[in-house]
Amino acid sequence: MSMEDYDYLFKIVLIGNAGVGKTCLVRRFTQGLFPPGQGATIGVDFMIKTVEIKGEKVKLQIWDTAGQERFRSITQSYYRSANALILTYDITCEDSFRCLPEWLREIEQYANNQVVTILVGNKIDLVEKREVLRQRAEDFAEAQSMLYLETSAKESDNVEKLFLDLACELIREA
Ligand code: GDP
Ligand code: MG
Repeated sequence: MSMEDYDYLFKIVLIGNAGVGKTCLVRRFTQGLFPPGQGATIGVDFMIKTVEIKGEKVKLQIWDTAGQERFRSITQSYYRSANALILTYDITCEDSFRCLPEWLREIEQYANNQVVTILVGNKIDLVEKREVLRQRAEDFAEAQSMLYLETSAKESDNVEKLFLDLACELIREA
C-alpha cells in the first residue's frame, strides 16, 4: 500500500432542490447526527469518511452544495471529477420530484459520462405525507439508468446503505 491509507478514493457529490435533506444525509452519514432546525449547512466544501468494503479501505470525499442549489449556479467545477452523484428529492414534495429532469440536464451537461448516479427519495419517516409514489420514482430511475433508494436522514434509515451501495458500485466500475 502507498503512503495514503486507502485502496480507493471516490468523490461523491450531492445535488437536488434546496430543502430535500442533502446536508442532513451527509451529517447523518459522516457524524451520526441529525441536526435540529433549519439551515443545516456544513461550513466546509466536503466531508471525508472512510469505509471498509470486503477488506478494502474506501475513502469517500462527499461534497454538499451548501445552498447553491439553483440551476446553473452550480458550475462545471462542482461536477468535474465526481465519481458519483446523489440526486436527492423529498418524497413529501412533488415539486422536488418534478425538478429532476432539470437536474438530469445539468448532469448531462457537466458531469463525466462514467458518473454513477443514484436517485434518493428522502424523508420516508414522513410517509403519511408522501406525494411521490415509490413505483413512480422507481420507474423514473430505471428509465434513466439510475439506482434508486428511499432514505430518512432523521431516522437514519438506509443512509449507511446509500453510501455503501454507492461505494460498492464504484469499486465494481473502477
Ligand atoms: P438541503 O437544503 O437539501 O441541504 O436540506 P437540509 O439537509 O438542510 O434539510 C432541510 C430540512 O428538511 C431541515 O428542516 C431538515 O431538518 C429536514 N429534513 C432533512 N432530512 C429529513 C428527513 O429524513 N426527515 C425529516 N422529517 N426531515 C428531514
Ligand atoms: Mg444543504
